[in-house]
Amino acid sequence: MTWSLDPSSGECLPANWKPIRDSVWRRDNGLCQKIRYDTGLPCLTDGEAVDHIQPRSQGGDHSPSNLQVLCHYHHTQKTAQEAADGKANRRATLTAPRRRNAPLGSLE
Ligand SMILES: [Zn+2]
Repeated sequence: MTWSLDPSSGECLPANWKPIRDSVWRRDNGLCQKIRYDTGLPCLTDGEAVDHIQPRSQGGDHSPSNLQVLCHYHHTQKTAQEAADGKANRRATLTAPRRRNAPLGSLE
């Protein structure tokens, strides 16, 4: 399979990404599917991007069931949250307790 790089997110995408993306866009009517925490209802603002519900970095795939349309606000918010989660995970790894007397760097 050939992969191409998505210029907006820097993600690797399959060669058939465009038809997948288009079908998800049609399914969601091009409207943001994010459930608002204040109303419990979908946002339904005009969509900006097709987003991976479970991020690629956490094993999410390109199947339509893992994809949703998001508006600019929710796409930005989710991307920032995933970046923050990634940093938190790396930090947790870096600050994991080391065994006493173990030489520094031995648990890398
Ligand atoms: Zn939204």
